[in-house]
Amino acid sequence: MDKQQEFVLRTVEERDIRFVRLWFTDVLGVLKSVAIAPAELENAFSEGIGFDGSAVEGLTRVYEADMIARPDPTTFQVLPWRGERQGAARMFCDIETPDGASALSDPRNVLKRTLDKASEKGFTFYTHPEIEFYLFESLEHGKLPVPVDQAGYFDNVPRGAAHSFRRDAITMLEAMGISVEFSHHEIGPGQNEIDLRYADALTMADNIMTFRSVIKEVALQQGVFASFMPKPLAGSPGSGMHTHLSLFEGDRNAFYEPGSEYDLSVTARQFAAGLLKHAPEITLITNQYVNSYKRLWGGSEAPSYVCWGSNNRSALVRIPVHKPGKSQSTRIEYRGLDSAANPYLAFSVMLAAGLKGIEEGYELPPGAEDDVWELSESERKAMGYEPLPQSLSAAIAAMERSELVAETLGERVFDFVLRNKRAEWQAYREQVTPYELETNLPVL
Ligand code: GLN
Ligand code: MG
Ligand code: MG
Ligand code: MG
Repeated sequence: MDKQQEFVLRTVEERDIRFVRLWFTDVLGVLKSVAIAPAELENAFSEGIGFDGSAVEGLTRVYEADMIARPDPTTFQVLPWRGERQGAARMFCDIETPDGASALSDPRNVLKRTLDKASEKGFTFYTHPEIEFYLFESLEHGKLPVPVDQAGYFDNVPRGAAHSFRRDAITMLEAMGISVEFSHHEIGPGQNEIDLRYADALTMADNIMTFRSVIKEVALQQGVFASFMPKPLAGSPGSGMHTHLSLFEGDRNAFYEPGSEYDLSVTARQFAAGLLKHAPEITLITNQYVNSYKRLWGGSEAPSYVCWGSNNRSALVRIPVHKPGKSQSTRIEYRGLDSAANPYLAFSVMLAAGLKGIEEGYELPPGAEDDVWELSESERKAMGYEPLPQSLSAAIAAMERSELVAETLGERVFDFVLRNKRAEWQAYREQVTPYELETNLPVL
């Protein structure tokens, strides 16, 4: 047993932990959990825990349903919401097939494989997400959700529900080793944003999964309902998960070059060019639901066109300003993804797109200074600002043709996502919506 595993066993003993939850994530980004008794821990480390993978979205083909979850001891954390005594803890797991190979269909494994490609080139990939979500009074079947307040961007709401919510949520996140950089009320009523301090992409993907659980738990405790749905309210902004990206070579930020435009190195420009060139084909992963496209095409500062800029909130890729000389914080912000993306897969395809730009030496086109939504269709055409896919169906079509995404996700995950998303589009297409009834029924 290694030191980390010993540490886990000791902590479980000392803190009187009664349940150890083994967490993993399915292809759609849904967290799965199986609880084991502390007595099973040693065995879980040495042999892994077997489970029937055929019931988990995208994990197996039916004829190889047995899968093994092997806990990663470096991810051990006590769950603060389960109380001090006889508590619960969790570890993230890697999924293996019965013969001990990494499961190709495990999103955590997809990200690890992509990170390996970056590290072969000497790069470590760091990310920091700005996670937006809504707080609603409650969830009532068939009724429109009611936001907990009517506040707006950066509003300080005295004794507001969102205020104490953010305080409790952040306290809990910090207790689990997740540092929060900023938090504030967002533009929409009941909408909030919490920004996590940057970490390597694997840690961050784990952190995002934990974040979603914490937010849901704190909401339950406070009698409200939290949602990461990309666009829950027509007419109010959607919930994005803008993500800041950088590559480091050892301690050196490979994106930083003092004196150049925005202090961006050639590597950074090529990475950004890769993101732009491959944006349409990765959108099914960064924006995976029918509803995601209501956000992307619903205005309110969600990016709809493929372009980059610095102080431009209509751009898909943004170079945030940073203090001169602060080399560590030079980074690229990708504003496409929404809060319902699977972070393991989304980080994988963004990294793959950026690395492709570096490998092939892509040229970054000129930056966009205009508000691209204000331009006419023909102006945008002339400037070369392509639209992102406008629907789930268009995103499927863009990904189907993508060698980059097929190679990054692996055949298994690639095929599963396409199949799953075609089925979602078909189910959606069969609906008759309130909009149609309201506009058509009275007059037709
Ligand atoms: N909610 C917007 C989005 O969906 C972002 C708003 C902002 O943070 N500027 O991307
Ligand atoms: Mg922000
Ligand atoms: Mg925001
Ligand atoms: Mg942002």
